[in-house]
Parts: sequence; C-alpha cells; structure tokens
Amino acid sequence: MDKLALHGGTPVLGSGKGKFEWPVIGTGIRNAVASQLATTLSIRDRSGIFQEFEERFAGYHGRRYALLSNSGTSAIMAMYEGVEIGPGDRIVAPAYGFHASVSPAVYLGADVAFCDIDEQGGMSVDHLVSQLDENTRAVIITHLWGLPTVDAYKIGDECGKRGIYLFEDCSHAHGARLDGIRVGGIGNAAAWSLQGQKLVSGGEGGILLTDNEELFERALLQGHYNRRTRDEISQSSHLWKYHETGLGLKLRAHPLAIAIALEQFGHLDDFLDQKNRFARLMLDGLSEYDFFRLPDVNGMMPSWYAFPLRFAGDAGRYVKRDDLVRALHAEGLSEVDIPSATNTMAGLPLFRDPQRVLGRRYAFDRPSGQDISFPVARRYADEVIKMPIWALGQDENIMRAYVDGFRKVADHLARSGIL
Ligand SMILES: *Cc1c(COP(=O)(O)O)cnc(C)c1O
Repeated sequence: MDKLALHGGTPVLGSGKGKFEWPVIGTGIRNAVASQLATTLSIRDRSGIFQEFEERFAGYHGRRYALLSNSGTSAIMAMYEGVEIGPGDRIVAPAYGFHASVSPAVYLGADVAFCDIDEQGGMSVDHLVSQLDENTRAVIITHLWGLPTVDAYKIGDECGKRGIYLFEDCSHAHGARLDGIRVGGIGNAAAWSLQGQKLVSGGEGGILLTDNEELFERALLQGHYNRRTRDEISQSSHLWKYHETGLGLKLRAHPLAIAIALEQFGHLDDFLDQKNRFARLMLDGLSEYDFFRLPDVNGMMPSWYAFPLRFAGDAGRYVKRDDLVRALHAEGLSEVDIPSATNTMAGLPLFRDPQRVLGRRYAFDRPSGQDISFPVARRYADEVIKMPIWALGQDENIMRAYVDGFRKVADHLARSGIL
C-alpha cells in the first residue's frame, strides 16, 4: 500500500495542480465582453443582451417571465416581494443551506420557520407539513450542491393544497433535472445566482423566472423604474401608476456581467454532460467504502455545483472528519472542503433575533427563533465534505487524480482503521 502523503509518502497531485478555477476565462468570454463594450454599458429597458438572456433562459426552462437582477440575492428578494411577503407572514426554509435563500424575506419583515432536511440535504416533505400554519405564505427549497430536492413535487402538492407559494433557489442547480424536468420549473417562481462561482456566471448577477404575471410585475417594480416598468407593466394593472418610481430600489444587472453569463449559458449543456461524466467517476470509485455516504442520483441529473459526500459509519468514530480532510489535502486534493458558509441556519443571529437589528414591525415575538432542533440537518452538517466537479474535458487528469487520492486515503482507512 502506498504510504500516505500525510506520513511522508508521495502526494497523488503535485502542489498547486488540483486547483479549481471558475469561470474559465477564454476567448469566448473575452469576445463577449469586447462586443458588449462596443454596444452599451447600461441598458434601461429590456433590450440587447438583457432581452437575449431573459428570452433564452426563460425558453430553456419553459417559463413565461424572466427578470435579470444584480445578484441572486436580489432575485430571491424579488420572489418574496412579488407576492408581498412582509410583517405578519411566515416563510418556511430548509434548516441547512445558504442564508441568502432566506435573509431577504427577513429583511422584508417576515418570520422564518426552518424545516429539517432529508439525507441528501434537501427539504423533507415529512418535516415540512408540521411547519405549515395559517400565517405561512411561502416555502423556499434549495437544490443543494446542484442535487434537485427529492421531495420537490410532493412539497409543491402540499403547498398547492393550502394556497402557499413554492419558491426554488436554483443557485447551485443551473440546468439540473428531477424526473426529466429542469429545476426552476417546479415552484411558482425560481431564482438563480449568476455570481462568480456559479455554473452560469457573470461575475455577479441573478435571474428570476415565473409564469405568474402579478408576481412578475411586482418583482419588476421593486428593482426597476422608468423605462422597463413603463414598457412592461400592463396599463390595466393597479401597479401601473408606480412605473415612474418603482417601489424604491434599483437592482438592475450590469450588461458586461450578462454578456459573460450569456456566453457561459451557451455552454451549460456541455458543462452538465461533462460534470455528470466526472461525477460518475467519483460515484463508481468510492462506492465500495461503507464509511462514505454518496449522493443518490436516481431519477435526477444533478448540476454538481459541488460533489457532497458524508463521512459516516464506524470509521467516523475513530477518525475525525478533519483528519480525513487533512489526509486528502496532503495528497494534493486541495479543493476538498468542509462547508462553512453553507450550514445549519436557525442559529444565525439574523434569524434568531431579527428584531434586534432590523427596525421592522415584526408580528412574531419569538424569544430566539424556533426552539426545536433539526437532527437530520445537524448530522448532515457534522458529516458532509464537498469538492468541485470540473466542467471541461481537458481537466480529466485532475478529476481522476481526485478519485485516486480519495481511494488511496480510503483504502488506508479501510485496512488499518486509522489514518
Ligand atoms: C450564491 C447563492 C445565493 C446568492 O447569490 P448572489 O448572486 O451571491 O447574491 C443564494 N442562494 C444560494 C444557494 C447560493 O449559492
């Protein structure tokens, strides 16, 4: 058995060789930027690169309305504003995730209830039902790491029965599919981040899709004024008279960002094919180790924003997750990581005690968030490790080295029980 690099053996990957860079800036992006520079740097209506992106993105998902914005967080806020979420309303979100799925609703004055997750990291319908009450206006699900939420359709049914909106945060999941349907086409509205690390990236940016006209018009009015609102809010709408001012914010995207994102979007299906081929190497290469719990991709095509695996079982009792990650890093697998910003959320100060920092009139006066624990989310947070899945064929050697490095460390652990 090869000696672990941790113990002075030769690393699988030389130092600096296992880095993940995203987006990969090539001639496509450079040309897209140059061409946009020669056109315009500010688009006040829905024309040019904005129109092209919105039409293509909506078409790809079979949705009627699209609205670009300056960030994914803004696009998420626009969903909440779109149905007038505010004080007195309650939203339900998964207990594990990234705060920006939720924080815009808190900013608008809503109360947040969290809901435990399933073993894959998505919201669990079994836990959801007990969290729905008469004040619940919306549920948000996040397709974590690009794995579609397994219960998404069941969650949609439960929401539909009660007249509750279902929103999807697809920021990890561009192009991912569940039962053949692309995520973002399941709920009443969906939002994607186009931020630097995301699979379709403009550096910064976001987009919302919906089929709901009223939701779209309010979302538009929240972050836009003048031209776009005048052109796109129907004159018969009760919102029309606000077209000159909007609702007070300006959340418009930057054309250069959208030019980059459009170029990237053109490659999305190729990225997805390649990522799924590479993810298969990981799934096949690690399936024999019972202390790794791998994603179950049955019935789905993930986008693999990251590849999550859980370090569990007997080995986990003797070897700490930190030590495993240290051994992998020593092998040159420098991108292997224990998530920190994406984590259990209920304990975050903004969610525990929003009244303290936001001078809104909250209808709910909870002492400290929900006083319930989320055992599945807690265990998930304690066990999960993630790494990138590369999106270009040229990176096959790196991907194979990651599989080899994982197997080297795992073989050692399986045979000796220690690292
Ligand atoms: C990145 C991200 C966001 C926020 O998007 P920004 O474009 O950075 O504002 C929201 N939710 C999830 C799950 C994300 O990964």
